[in-house]
Amino acid sequence: MSNKVNLQHNVSRILTVLALLFAFFIANFNVSAQDNQIKQTKIKTNPKNIENIVRTGTINLKKIDKNKDVKVFQCPMDWNVISDKAGKCPVCKMDLTEVALKKAKDNLVKHGFKAK
Ligand SMILES: [Zn+2]
Repeated sequence: MSNKVNLQHNVSRILTVLALLFAFFIANFNVSAQDNQIKQTKIKTNPKNIENIVRTGTINLKKIDKNKDVKVFQCPMDWNVISDKAGKCPVCKMDLTEVALKKAKDNLVKHGFKAK
């Protein structure tokens, strides 16, 4: 009799532990689902976060020169491809050339782009 009670007691303890574990996993699962959602949102918003260095309209060079070194990187083929960082032109895949802000503006104006 006492054994049976003990067994029942143990079973209910095990069930409680299992229920807690289950709740824990569900909670974790929800968290990771949320994480995934955040990651997916980040991936979705990433293309907007990556600065488009192919400039259109009136090109604001001072705004592009984020580090204020009065220099920017410009594609020698596509004048409107300007970045504050070294890199490759997404249009022609050439390396961007470091030029003074004024030079970049001259290049743009000379080739019919609007710059300020
Ligand atoms: Zn280019």
